[in-house]
Amino acid sequence: MDFLNPPQRAACLHTQGPLLVLAGAGSGKTRVIVEKIAHLIASGRMPAKRIAAITFTNKSAKEMRERLAKRLKGDAAEGLTICTFHALGLKFLQIEHAAVGLKRGFSIFDADDAAAQIKDLLPGVKPDAVEAAKSLISRAKNAGLSPEEAMAAARSTREQEAAALYARYQARLTTFNAVDFDDLIRLPVQILEGNHEIALAWRERIGYLLVDECQDTNDAQYRLLKVLAGPRGDFTCVGDDDQSIYAWRGANPDNLLQMAQDYPKLEIIKLEQNYRCSNRVLRAANALIANNPHEHLKKLWSDQPDGDRIRIWECRDNEHEAEKVAAEISFLHTGKQAPWSDFCILFRGNHQSRALEKALQLLRVPYHLTGGTAFLERQEVKDALSWLRLVANPDDDTAFLRAVQSPKREVGATSLAKLAEMAQHMGVPMSRAAESMGVLKALPARAANGLSAFTDVVRDLRDQTKLLSAKDLLLRLNERSGLLADLRSQCKDEAGFQRRKANLDELADWFDGGPRGGNVGDLAAQLALLSRNDKDDGGNQVRLMSLHAAKGLEFRYVFIVGCEDGTLPHEISVEEGNLAEERRLMYVGITRAKQALWLSYSRETRRFREKVRLMPSRFLDELPASELQRDGADPVADAERKKERASAGLAAIQAMFD
Ligand code: ATP
Ligand code: MG
Repeated sequence: MDFLNPPQRAACLHTQGPLLVLAGAGSGKTRVIVEKIAHLIASGRMPAKRIAAITFTNKSAKEMRERLAKRLKGDAAEGLTICTFHALGLKFLQIEHAAVGLKRGFSIFDADDAAAQIKDLLPGVKPDAVEAAKSLISRAKNAGLSPEEAMAAARSTREQEAAALYARYQARLTTFNAVDFDDLIRLPVQILEGNHEIALAWRERIGYLLVDECQDTNDAQYRLLKVLAGPRGDFTCVGDDDQSIYAWRGANPDNLLQMAQDYPKLEIIKLEQNYRCSNRVLRAANALIANNPHEHLKKLWSDQPDGDRIRIWECRDNEHEAEKVAAEISFLHTGKQAPWSDFCILFRGNHQSRALEKALQLLRVPYHLTGGTAFLERQEVKDALSWLRLVANPDDDTAFLRAVQSPKREVGATSLAKLAEMAQHMGVPMSRAAESMGVLKALPARAANGLSAFTDVVRDLRDQTKLLSAKDLLLRLNERSGLLADLRSQCKDEAGFQRRKANLDELADWFDGGPRGGNVGDLAAQLALLSRNDKDDGGNQVRLMSLHAAKGLEFRYVFIVGCEDGTLPHEISVEEGNLAEERRLMYVGITRAKQALWLSYSRETRRFREKVRLMPSRFLDELPASELQRDGADPVADAERKKERASAGLAAIQAMFD
C-alpha cells in the first residue's frame, strides 16, 4: 500500500461497516477499490470468492480484473466477482429464478424485443407513444415498483393506464419465461426483500461489497446494494456527485445522502489530491464545476506541473473543426512520438462522429469509435442469438418467431398467426404447439412440413447442448439452422459473405471458454448484457466516444469538440433551464485529460440547407481566462455575438407580446 496517500490507505484499511469515499475526479477512487480488494484478499480478511465489486460497465469490470491479476499472485483472485449491477442481478436470478416463477434458461429481452411487445399490446399507436410507454414502465421498474405497487401509487388516469400496461407487459414476459434489463435489478430486490432466508444466504455468499461510480446508481440498484449488504453494511462505495451524468436513465445522486441516513455508522472519507490532470486542466475543471450549487465544494489540488494552456479553437464549421483535430493529432503523433492510443476525441452526441471519422480517414489515422459497431444489433448476430435463446428456452415465443423466419421457410405469416392462436388456446408456447400433430394437421401441408423440419433441428440442437461446448454448439447451429447458407445467398459476392460470416465467427469466439454441457441460455443471457460501449479492441488507435462513455477513463491528450450552445449544453437542457447536469458532463470531459486539452466550436452549421450561426458554449465563459489560449477566435466578433445572444433573448420576449 506504499503507493497510496494517507486517506486512500485509511479507506483500504476500513474493512468493517459501511464506508463512502466521496471525492472529485482523478483522486484515485477506482484505485482505492482495486487496492482494497487486493488488501482484503492478501490479508486473509475475506476470501476472493466472498468479494463482489460492482462497476459501471463491463469494460471497466474487465480492466479492474486485469489490474488485479497483476497485483495478486497466482490464482489468489479466483472466484472474485467483478461485474455490473445487471450482471450481478443476472447471476442472482440464474440461481434464485424459481422464487419469482422463472424457469432455468430464461431469456433476456433487449430494448427492441421489449418495444415489440409493447407495440403488440398497443396496436395502432405511433412509435413515439411506444417509446414513451416503454420509458414509463422502465421508470417504475427503476424505482423498484412491481405492477401492483405501480398501480397503488398511480395518481392520475394516465398513471393508472401506464400501470395497467405494465401489468400486461409483465404477464407477457412471464409467459415467455423472459425478463427485461430492468428486471435484472428489480426481481432480485423483490426476492431479497421478501425472503429473509435467501437474503441471509446471499449475505453469507457476498461478505464484502464494493461499488464504483455509485453516484450513478438508480433507486432499484441502491435497494439491491442495501439488501445485499444487510444492516451491518460491510461495503465500500466510491463516487463523485459532480460526475453524476445519468439522471436521464434514472440515476439518483441523492442516494449518497440517503446512505448517510440509512447507515448512521457510515464513515465518509474525502480524497483531495488529483493524480491525473495537469494543474491548469484541474483549475479549469474546478472553476467550471464551482458554478453548480454545492453543499460542500471539493477542493481538488494536484502537484503535477501547470502544463500547457487549454487551447480554445474557433472553427468555421464542424468539417473544419474535424480537419483541425485530425491534423493536430497526426502532428503530435509524429512530433512527440505519442502513440495513437494517447488521444481521445469526445463529443455530446454520437452523430458528431461522422465528420471526425472522415477527417481521420483522410489522414490515415487509425481510430476506434466506442459504441459505433453495434455488433449485437447486426441482423445475422441477432438471428443466431434468437436460435440460441430458443434452444435454451422453449417458452420464448419472441425467439421462436425470429428463428422460424431466419432463414425464411415455407411458414408464412398466416400460418404463424394460426399457430399463435392455437398455442394460446392450448396454453403452451408456440414451439411446443409446433410439435403437436393435431396442430400441424390444421395447417397447410407446406407450412406443416416446414415447421416440423424446423422443430427437428431445434430438438437436435437441444440434445447437443449436453455434449458440445457453447462455442461448438454455436458453430453447429450456424450450419444446421441454415443461417450460413442463407447468408451466402444474400450476399452479392464472396467478400461480402466473408465479412458477415466473420460476425458469426466472432460471436462464437465470445462463447469460447464456456462450459461443455453448461446452460447455453445462461451464456446467451450474459452476452445480451454486453452493451455496445463495452466492446473496445484496446489497440493502438485514437479513441472517439461520447462524453457519457468516457466516465472513469483517462487519456494524455483530450479534444472536446462541438463546444457550442445548443450542443454542449444540449438544446433541451437549455430550454428546460437544467444546466447543472450538462456542466457535470463537461466536467467529466475536461477531467479525462492528463496532459493537454483542446476545446473547439464552430461558428456556423447547416440546418435544412440553411446556414445557421452558432454561439460558443456558455461553459467556455466559465473557465478562467488565464488558463486558456484562444486560436482563431476574434474577441471583437465574440463580443458582438454575445450581444446578439442577449438581444435574441430580448427579441423572443418581444415576440411573445407582439
Ligand atoms: P474518476 O473520478 O475519473 O473515476 P478516480 O477518482 O477513480 O477518477 P483513478 O482513476 O483511480 O481516479 O486514478 C486517477 C489516476 O491517478 C490513475 O492514473 C491512478 O493510477 C493515479 N493515482 C491514484 N492514486 C494515486 C497515488 N496515490 N499515487 C500515484 N498515482 C495515483
Ligand atoms: Mg474512477
